[in-house]
Amino acid sequence: MIQEKELYRKIRFACHSESAEAFHLQSRIHRLRWFDRSDIWVKRDDELSFGVSGTKLRKHASIIPSLQQKGIEEVVVIGGAHSNNVLSAAQTLTENSIKMTPFLLGPPPQRTGNAKLLSLFFNEDEIHWIPRAEWSTCHNLANRYIEEKRSQGINIMLLPEGGHHESALPGALSLMVDILRNEKESGVVFDHLFIDAGTGMVAQSLLAGAAALERKTTFHIVVLADSFTDFKSGLAQVIQQTEKFLHLTITTLPDHHLYYPSVAKSFGSTNSTIFREIKRTAREDGILTDPVYSSKLFLTARKTILEQTLQGNILLIHSGGALALSGFMDHPIFAS
Ligand SMILES: *Cc1c(COP(=O)(O)O)cnc(C)c1O
Repeated sequence: MIQEKELYRKIRFACHSESAEAFHLQSRIHRLRWFDRSDIWVKRDDELSFGVSGTKLRKHASIIPSLQQKGIEEVVVIGGAHSNNVLSAAQTLTENSIKMTPFLLGPPPQRTGNAKLLSLFFNEDEIHWIPRAEWSTCHNLANRYIEEKRSQGINIMLLPEGGHHESALPGALSLMVDILRNEKESGVVFDHLFIDAGTGMVAQSLLAGAAALERKTTFHIVVLADSFTDFKSGLAQVIQQTEKFLHLTITTLPDHHLYYPSVAKSFGSTNSTIFREIKRTAREDGILTDPVYSSKLFLTARKTILEQTLQGNILLIHSGGALALSGFMDHPIFAS
């Protein structure tokens, strides 16, 4: 077990660098008025940054200092054309004068949303587009590029999809610590916590952090991109990384349940239920959500709270990503 203060100290150290401004990793919580209840809350990680989606900012907060320590000059970033991590990395790497070379699935038929915003950062000829038929060889192609750059004496590394990398762990762990701060400030202790998972890095770190603190909360994880099996193997990996980072052994995990989204199950897919939920969340909660992550989290959380008649204090993590919404504004549901 680790004490909260000690965990906080280790995270702060790993998210610190001589040559960079630290990222701001504190976000507020507030109540939602769902189901005439006053014990359902949302954590506004979406407010951590205008352009970098919230949980990505946490991961990059430790990725960047780790790159700087290793003297990395260039990073190959792999992802989809609409990836929040790719768009986030374009911002955090450029801010810190590290060259980014994107290896992206595509090109997509039309540039909208994140894919269009990306053209603010890169000329077309700077993007390595990998067609879907060759996507499985993307890592080989990226590694070949990296080898060539290394032979020219360039200090370069690869950032995997979604930033699921050991160097992202300390930043990802900051979410657990920040929830403890929210609890102390509000006097509310959360019994249930809902979070979405793409690569699962942030949710896995949350579980590992809770385990290290021996914190008893029930975690509800909406698995959006991968399978439960992938999530569990990622979890085993993150637990090992956490044990190494904190010099402790994790024997038991807190209660956690995995869900697939209640609608539009395949990653990135949308439908009118999703768009209606985005509109509902805007009108009733006053919150912008995105079609890929947060709206699916909100929908699945509402359904789960009702079906399982969950009692006690509930917290939803709004992980951000609203910029992606800009690509969907022509949907007829938004016009009516
Ligand atoms: C990337 C992302 C996630 C998922 O984070 P993982 O660590 O990959 O699971 C969730 N929500 C938003 C808005 C994101 O951009």
